[in-house]
Amino acid sequence: MKIVIDKKKCCGSGECVKVCPHSALTLVGGKAVVDEARCDLDGLCIPACPHGAIHFEE
Ligand code: SF4
Repeated sequence: MKIVIDKKKCCGSGECVKVCPHSALTLVGGKAVVDEARCDLDGLCIPACPHGAIHFEE
C-alpha cells in the first residue's frame, strides 16, 4: 500500500502538507509529493485534499 497523488488533480494548495504529522508531504513545482520513507499510511491527507487528488494504491 502507498499514498498516490494525482498530479492532474493536485492544485498545490498545500492542505495535505499541513495535516501530515510525519512531514511526508512537500510541494515540488506546485504539486504535492510523498516521501514514502516518512509516510506511515495513516490516511489523514486523503480527506484533507479539497480536490480528491490523494488516494491509497496497492
Ligand atoms: S498518509 Fe499520513 S503520513 Fe502518509 S503522507 Fe498522508 S498524512 Fe502523511
